[in-house]
Amino acid sequence: MANDFLSEMETKLLAMRKELLEKLSNDDDDFRGMVNAMGIKDSIDVAADDIAFKKMEALNQHDANRLKAVEAALARLKNDRYGVCLRCGKKIPEERLRAIPYAVLCIDCKNGEEGPNKRRF
Ligand SMILES: [Zn+2]
Repeated sequence: MANDFLSEMETKLLAMRKELLEKLSNDDDDFRGMVNAMGIKDSIDVAADDIAFKKMEALNQHDANRLKAVEAALARLKNDRYGVCLRCGKKIPEERLRAIPYAVLCIDCKNGEEGPNKRRF
């Protein structure tokens, strides 16, 4: 794989990491605010807040997982393992990596792994 492609992907991944870190720290402020607000509300509001709380937790989890994937991709770039499918060892097409720079599986393996209920990145 061409080096300029790898540096292009590295730039993308670093930008994504920065964005996710900023997003997660912003969400944390909202999260803390919500926890504080919950403390002063009466019990009638708690059920609705509980749903919002769980939703935010799930959103954070999604971003946290994406951040992990981005970090892993950066590590693979350093180890010359970037762009190689983790399952079958084939090269992942550049086109796919441009769309999802942190992809770890080729399209065939990804399709094989995901059931109909799983979320796509
Ligand atoms: Zn594969």
